[in-house]
Amino acid sequence: MDNDCLFCRIVAGEIPATVVHETETTLAFRDIDPKAPVHVLVIPKAHHPDVVALARADPAGSADLLAAAAAVAEAEGLLTDGFRLLFNTGGYAGQEVFHVHAHVLGGTSLGPMLA
Ligand code: 5GP
Repeated sequence: MDNDCLFCRIVAGEIPATVVHETETTLAFRDIDPKAPVHVLVIPKAHHPDVVALARADPAGSADLLAAAAAVAEAEGLLTDGFRLLFNTGGYAGQEVFHVHAHVLGGTSLGPMLA
């Protein structure tokens, strides 16, 4: 755990979050400022700053994260109409929290990605 990391502190229970899914290695909770009717963040409990670091350090953990995101999408009823799964990575992408997180976005038509 990184004591200066917001999402590590959510994993530790020090900061409240609305948890929707949890496994031994992952946690999923609602985004505090949702950009769509469904906006869930899915994270590994272990600290990795971004998806590149996670993929390099822990391939099994990467697979766990994708499986958790899929389970969240199913539980939130997003599989029929579709959803967006994205990892902002680095400054140009607007990453603000440097604990890797998948955004699961859905519940409405999201339009073209780069519109
Ligand atoms: P990023 O821009 O790093 O990909 O996304 C960070 C996300 O974390 C944003 O969508 C933001 O709304 C969300 N966020 C920031 N602080 C908190 C918090 O304390 N709790 C929750 N649940 N989400 C947060």
